[in-house]
Amino acid sequence: MQSIDFKQFKCLITVVNLLSEDKMQTDDTLNWVCQYCGVENSVWIDLTVDGKQDFIEDCRICCRPNRIIVTTDYDENVMIESRFIDE
Ligand SMILES: [Zn+2]
Repeated sequence: MQSIDFKQFKCLITVVNLLSEDKMQTDDTLNWVCQYCGVENSVWIDLTVDGKQDFIEDCRICCRPNRIIVTTDYDENVMIESRFIDE
C-alpha cells in the first residue's frame, strides 16, 4: 500500500517539474504595430518584471517613437499594445 502511494507521489513531482519548466521563461520577443506607418516591429520583453511595463520604442521603418505598454495578467498571459506617445 505504501509503495503505491510513493509511485503516485513521484508522478505528481514529474508533473510539477514540467509545469515549472514552462514558467522558467524569463524573456520573450513580442510584436507591436507602429501607430504611424502600420509596420510590425518586434521588441524584447523582460518577463521577470512584475506588472506593467511602459516605455518608448522607435519604429524600425519610420523611426517615430511609439509608446509600448506591456501588461501581464494573473494567468501570466502577456499583452502588448502600442500607442501614440502623446495619448
Ligand atoms: Zn513606423
